Amino acid sequence: MDYESFFNTKITALQEEGRYRIFADLERRAGAFPRASKYQGEDSQDVTVWCSNDYLGMGQHPKVLNAMLEALGRCGAGAGGTRNISGTNHQHVLLEEELADLHAKEAALLFTSGYVSNDTSLSTLGKILPNCVILSDALNHASMIEGIRRSGAQKRIWKHNDPEDLDQQLSELDPNCPKIIAFESVYSMDGDVAPISDICDVAEKHNALTYLDEVHAVGMYGARGAGIAERDGQMHRLSVIQGTLGKAYGVVGGYITGSSALVDCVRSYGSGFIFTTSLPPAIAAGARASIRHLKESNSERERHQERAATLKKLLTEAGLPVMPSQCHIVPLLVGDAVLCRKASDDLMEGFKIYVQPINYPTVPRGTERLRLTPTPFHSDDDMAYLIKALTHIWKDLSLPLAQAA
Ligand SMILES: *Cc1c(COP(=O)(O)O)cnc(C)c1O
Repeated sequence: MDYESFFNTKITALQEEGRYRIFADLERRAGAFPRASKYQGEDSQDVTVWCSNDYLGMGQHPKVLNAMLEALGRCGAGAGGTRNISGTNHQHVLLEEELADLHAKEAALLFTSGYVSNDTSLSTLGKILPNCVILSDALNHASMIEGIRRSGAQKRIWKHNDPEDLDQQLSELDPNCPKIIAFESVYSMDGDVAPISDICDVAEKHNALTYLDEVHAVGMYGARGAGIAERDGQMHRLSVIQGTLGKAYGVVGGYITGSSALVDCVRSYGSGFIFTTSLPPAIAAGARASIRHLKESNSERERHQERAATLKKLLTEAGLPVMPSQCHIVPLLVGDAVLCRKASDDLMEGFKIYVQPINYPTVPRGTERLRLTPTPFHSDDDMAYLIKALTHIWKDLSLPLAQAA
């Protein structure tokens, strides 16, 4: 076999579909978010980032940076091992206590990323529970899908955010077999939100465990930033709440929280937890500082919601096709992969605005979009300039405007 030409054919296929991924070579500038330098070889220019998942700008917060610097000086760079073999640093222990407290659970377990926490936890739970069935929301994230697949458990997909379909599917199963319902609170591409209370009702009726991914909600919703389940008063009804330290908390890492026994099982049987070097202590210290700050401070959350609402209003007034979103995520429909890529390129080249195109398989074909994520640091001027740029590009590329209501 000619391996090189095979690999090249695979890449060409992506390019022809407009789905070939090109990464922007950026340097974020602490203290100046959402400004970044974009590199092209040696040269760089200033750009404004409109698609970061550092939703609250905590990645530049002085408390976070100071905690990291302090821990770096005290503990050094790396953790030095897996958690089992000399890699448990006091910072990990403190962070797990912080996370358990955040979600009002008995225990928490840290992973190197949110992806790894979903993959490891779902694969482990689905494997150790005999004859387990995992019921997965149709729009679940790749990390959950992969964990479910690797668990070897029977998988059933229920209609997105539809507790009735979930109930129906559960009714068809052996009442005595173990079941896990896996879903998200905020779905990050459409910005819709799960009916957590209704899903918990169904789970309780059928004695199923509930596994909730709050990756796009932690830090941002609820009185202490624990997520949508906290906002809705449902935290105590969920068996597992999973989150990331890499989005609103601005650092990196993932975790689950739950009962001591469940968490201890994942700790003891989960290979994606056991066989990998733990997070650097400075990372754990920074994440903990971020969580502690957002437990007490509401100003970032309030400003974030206000910015998102303002942006939606401005886009709507300009006749641009904002997709209905129930949260801080602002998707703008393009509906074509090549044009979506082109719109993104033109924003960068013509206006120094960075918004990544979102294409299949991240979203279904025909719903390609630009996904805007306003932060507390995007000013009114930034917004006015963005609207001007988008209006220009929409006209230039003859992109569809909003349907008249
Ligand atoms: C980003 C994401 C993850 C993975 O989290 P990381 O910390 O980035 O690995 C998990 N679930 C959802 C829904 C996500 O969007």
